Amino acid sequence: MAAEWLNGAPLANALRQQVTEALTAAGVRPLLVAIVAGDDPASLSYLDSLDKAAARRHIDTRRLQLDADISQEALCEVVREAGRDPAVHAVMVQFPLPDGVDRQAVTDCIPPAKDVDGLGTHALGTLLAGERRHTAPATAAAVVEILASDPRLDPAGKDVVIVGRSLVVGKPLAAMLSSAGRGGQATVTLCHSRTRDLATHARRADVLVVAVGQRHMITADMVRPGAVVIDVGTHPIERDGRWTLDGDVHPDVASVAGYLTPVPGGVGAVTTAVLMRHVAAAACPTAFAPAW
Ligand code: NAP
Repeated sequence: MAAEWLNGAPLANALRQQVTEALTAAGVRPLLVAIVAGDDPASLSYLDSLDKAAARRHIDTRRLQLDADISQEALCEVVREAGRDPAVHAVMVQFPLPDGVDRQAVTDCIPPAKDVDGLGTHALGTLLAGERRHTAPATAAAVVEILASDPRLDPAGKDVVIVGRSLVVGKPLAAMLSSAGRGGQATVTLCHSRTRDLATHARRADVLVVAVGQRHMITADMVRPGAVVIDVGTHPIERDGRWTLDGDVHPDVASVAGYLTPVPGGVGAVTTAVLMRHVAAAACPTAFAPAW
């Protein structure tokens, strides 16, 4: 039996609608400042797509593109200055940063209320403390939104296996899925490159979330029949003369899983919509119910 595809578009549309309605009712037009050091093509292309998504939601964006060899102190000062500006509602720092720059030190210069990427120590701490603010890392929050959007995917009481323990996806997601309340209540196993016998862990999962960064590494024999499989991976690839994306999950998994997110068009679509909601919530905090 072929898996049911979990397309992100309907959920992303619903989230975007929420944002438009809240901003229209509040009469607010938020400003998001994105800070990038250097000209990494993937970073710039991501920011281009964010600019477009924001413009459609009546959110203004400002990009501060700095030298690739900027010092940590100079970068921190740019971030602090953006954070101090009362006209700026949201600040994000795009990775990668120049060699030798401490990513956490730079991120921690964003005021917590404007940290829409949710990677500052304060945002991560409040997440662990169980506070459902609109500052959880957007990709992790997108996975929770997908699972919470359909009772058939509800992680409550299920065995969830997450492959990948990055601060952007795996670690915050483990905290969110094991928390009490909506989108949580799961029993979570967090796997990484030192996990012994990954396949055995993966095959146990009712819900398998893959954020590894290795194209097609999860194969059909690693998936329990009927499982929910969420593919976070993105790998740009040229196929039939045009650029598209592949995931961390092998296409053959569709013949075993019960539900599967496509790449592209799955987690990524929802992530952008969640980020827009974070920006809108930073500008009008009372307009949104608790997140995730
Ligand atoms: P990352 O920081 O490189 O982390 C990768 C994680 O995978 C690490 O925890 C690593 O373990 C683990 N890992 C690597 N090889 C493994 C193996 N053979 N077995 C088990 N675990 C292994 O990556 P990331 O930033 O989380 O991104 C992961 C993927 O998601 C990438 O393809 C990225 O492009 C994509 N992504 C997509 C979105 C979206 O919105 N769709 C957002 C963010 C990222 P160690 O910790 O032991 O090294």
